[in-house]
Amino acid sequence: MRILVVEDEPTLATQLAEGLQSVGYVVHVAHNGVDGSFMGDTDPYDAVELDIGLPQMDGITVLKKWRASGRTMPVLILTARDTWREKVAGIDAGADDYLTKPFHMEELLARLRALIRRAGGHASTELVCGPLTLDTRSSRASVDGTALTLTSHEYRVLAYLMHHPGEIVSRAELTEHIYAQDFDRDSNTVEVFIARLRKKLPPGLIETLRGLGYRLNKAQ
Ligand code: CA
Repeated sequence: MRILVVEDEPTLATQLAEGLQSVGYVVHVAHNGVDGSFMGDTDPYDAVELDIGLPQMDGITVLKKWRASGRTMPVLILTARDTWREKVAGIDAGADDYLTKPFHMEELLARLRALIRRAGGHASTELVCGPLTLDTRSSRASVDGTALTLTSHEYRVLAYLMHHPGEIVSRAELTEHIYAQDFDRDSNTVEVFIARLRKKLPPGLIETLRGLGYRLNKAQ
């Protein structure tokens, strides 16, 4: 899962990035509204954490531009304390949720998990596909109740597929959602992670569609 953080305050931006990375998200940070707007327009993100008070372009304008151009990723806005007008303006501009500064990292993580789940049409914290269960709170996966031991990259690949069951997911899309930096990207390694996952999962759960990508088989 890939998260965009748009936050101009350097200490807070670092805290957010570290907090999100510590639970396995891939995080990109923009320090002003213009960069944030551009990144949200050009890269796919599973969710965005957007500060309202930003230099160069304020958060409300950034959000309005994304929504006007059809960008539908879930957006959590951060507002200063006691600024109900900002919250109203943010929600009217298309925010999915808000948090007031200062906030607890745990609450931010819980709200982001909920937004990502709902964006995928999942109401529960547990994603289920046949014998496979993924608990998005504890970042654990199990088959018929037996916990799987997964590396962080294996978990990211599986989590992305579990959020898109029955859909064809291309190698390029998986690569984008599991790596933080362009220079780490090597789409061949996705094949390696898929091969390792298949050894840990029941046969047939992850299908390969030649030339198209992978699909988590819902019918199992
Ligand atoms: Ca700010």
